[in-house]
Amino acid sequence: MRFSPVAEIRRSALQHNVRRLRAIAPNSKLLAVVKANAYGHGLVALTRWLDNVDGFGLARIEEALALRESGNRARLVLMEGVFAEADLEQAARHQLDVVIHDAEQVRLLERARLSQPVVIWLKIDSGMHRLGVRAEDFPDLYQRLSHCANVIQPPHLMTHFSVADEPGNPETQRQIELFHRLVQGLPGDKALCNSAGTLTQPEAHSDWIRPGLALYGANPMMGGRAEHFDLQPVMTMRSKVLAVRKVKAGEPVGYGQTWRAKQDTHIAVVAMGYGDGYPRHAVSGTPVLINGQRYPMVGRVSMDMLTVEVGSAPIQVGDDAVLWGEGLPVEEIADRAETIPYELLCGTTARVQYRYI
Ligand code: PLP
Repeated sequence: MRFSPVAEIRRSALQHNVRRLRAIAPNSKLLAVVKANAYGHGLVALTRWLDNVDGFGLARIEEALALRESGNRARLVLMEGVFAEADLEQAARHQLDVVIHDAEQVRLLERARLSQPVVIWLKIDSGMHRLGVRAEDFPDLYQRLSHCANVIQPPHLMTHFSVADEPGNPETQRQIELFHRLVQGLPGDKALCNSAGTLTQPEAHSDWIRPGLALYGANPMMGGRAEHFDLQPVMTMRSKVLAVRKVKAGEPVGYGQTWRAKQDTHIAVVAMGYGDGYPRHAVSGTPVLINGQRYPMVGRVSMDMLTVEVGSAPIQVGDDAVLWGEGLPVEEIADRAETIPYELLCGTTARVQYRYI
């Protein structure tokens, strides 16, 4: 028997989530965001399953080239842009859409000698103030792109929300209005919505939605759960109990002795630690499912294992543990560790095995 974590990746859940997103935004094309190894789910395997979406969103050129190498002929969008002529030429040769987000990149495009023109998305900074051209610079840069021979005309237009995960925050509405005001009457496709926007801002669905997290079956809204939008977790992180220990009342468990037994009890030691991607800052009380029942994780998370108080439950070495996924929302584990589900999903390490089912 193997005592190492396995990330089980469920195709039916992925397909269900795609259907849900299609139903929520029926008139939009779907750009599946698969950057960062498909949010930790495995880039090539996941994109093979996603054969019914309209394209894939990636951050870096290496990710897009890896997909092309795997035989993927779909539309691929490089969302972080490119920074050198050689990369632009790679984008041209491999027919990658490129997001342009500053004046320097426009200049690069204007000067480059490319074998063929590229599809360009101009990103507008409507409030995130991270990437994107500012509203006052937009008209000039847009004009330049629409006269640039290296651009397949017309350029497309996009923006990104900064607080769409906060229901009721008026900033999202302000971003939507600013974007629509700037792009009104311009040709080219428009795209605004990440998962949170897709799920809560129907008036912003536009030509394309760009969901990442929701595709993987997690709820991006603060305090949210997948079931609120009828999404299903694609990844279930499983492992095994590798020891069961008796602990007496008052005895501490784990590094730093941060937790002590209140009464005589048993501790199940589960083969999952921060070396596998479990959050080191998860607090005592974070639930773990063993044989389908919830028990509290206690003490500090170690590199290779964590400890769970199981009382007098009949738990044995080799029993199944679920750390997040089916029956245990990844959002809940993230809350307990003061992080976000994105970080948990992306953070699975190389020693975790994957099972695609
Ligand atoms: N669009 C852009 C430009 C992004 O950077 C991201 C991810 O951060 C997404 C869409 C997808 O976001 P989410 O996973 O919240 O749906």
